[in-house]
Amino acid sequence: MKDTGSIKLKATLLVEGINYEEEAVEEVGSTYKEQNHGLFGWDFENHTGLLLPDDLCLPDGTVVQFRFNSGSPYCVKKINNDLFLFHGEEETCRVEWIKRPEFYTSYTSNGNEMIKIGQVGGEDCLFYCYNNYCSHFSHNKECLFCNLVSTSKTYNSVLKKKDYHDIGEVAAAAWAEGMVNHILLTGGCFKGEKEVEIVSAIMASIKKHTGFDRVPGTILPSPARGDDLLRYFETGIQAIGFSMEIWDDRLYNAMCPGKAETTSHNEFLNSIKTAVKIFGAGNVYGVFVMGLEPRDTFLEGINVLYGEGANVVPFVWSPNPGSRLEGHRAPSPDWYTDVIREAAGIACESGVPPGTENHCYRCDGNNLLHDALKEKGIV
Ligand code: SF4
Repeated sequence: MKDTGSIKLKATLLVEGINYEEEAVEEVGSTYKEQNHGLFGWDFENHTGLLLPDDLCLPDGTVVQFRFNSGSPYCVKKINNDLFLFHGEEETCRVEWIKRPEFYTSYTSNGNEMIKIGQVGGEDCLFYCYNNYCSHFSHNKECLFCNLVSTSKTYNSVLKKKDYHDIGEVAAAAWAEGMVNHILLTGGCFKGEKEVEIVSAIMASIKKHTGFDRVPGTILPSPARGDDLLRYFETGIQAIGFSMEIWDDRLYNAMCPGKAETTSHNEFLNSIKTAVKIFGAGNVYGVFVMGLEPRDTFLEGINVLYGEGANVVPFVWSPNPGSRLEGHRAPSPDWYTDVIREAAGIACESGVPPGTENHCYRCDGNNLLHDALKEKGIV
């Protein structure tokens, strides 16, 4: 039977990209939320000078990242003030852009544009990249799927390094307008800096400005280990993630040459086990790039991590411009749909709390696991 569900459609749109008619994007950047390239670029082609939507919602509330591809058979058109997704000449469904946060037009007391400090991911996740920097690029050992440097050079749209006080003010503004429910915090650090100290100062500012004792959300630091895990917990963030990227050890070494030199597969696993003891089951994430390894090794990773009490966020890979894999092709939408449903079955059977107070299906336009769990009644 042909699968016409939202998971399959979302997988298709992430793998094929989306085109648009001019009229459909007229209010993007004013009424609706535009892309701001806070970290990576996820489109199939760059679009400097053009404001394009960050994401869209399908009729059942599924959030889909907008990955621009002028050659995609999928196109968003505006008809009588409503937006519709078309496949060729055939209407697929109605869609909606997500409203633009009010704080995007505000400034911090330091005079910085709030939009250049924090951005909203999906419908409710306040995203900060505290340092747009990764040392692996300078040694030509960046992860093969990563376009951090190219995105930053192409758009230069956010402040590379953010002031802690500004970050707190943006959190206060975002929560005050009632749009966000969690934060996602990531970054890197320069030689001589201690990342956990940076995060500690940022979290102190967010807590001060929002009044939270513990902040709902997730920190994705450079691979954290040892005593730092307890220190991250003490900053007041509720969950921590580990960007393992690829489960298969040999593929991980090949795809992530710089990262694999500094953190081995087993070090990641040991840190995740320790973090579960500190943060609690469900409050630790293994983060993967899904589509760069075979089904069996990906699912093995899902099995092991849920067995340890962790959750998993698998981002759907497609070949981003400026990455070493630009021009390659992602697996088929059917592959993504089948594999993610099997992963959701493993997650459900594990009994690990879904951690939706820290990261939920509304946060993620580029991950299918939350949607597959929602299909099973877990939201
Ligand atoms: S560790 Fe890899 S994915 Fe992360 S920023 Fe560096 S190159 Fe990119």
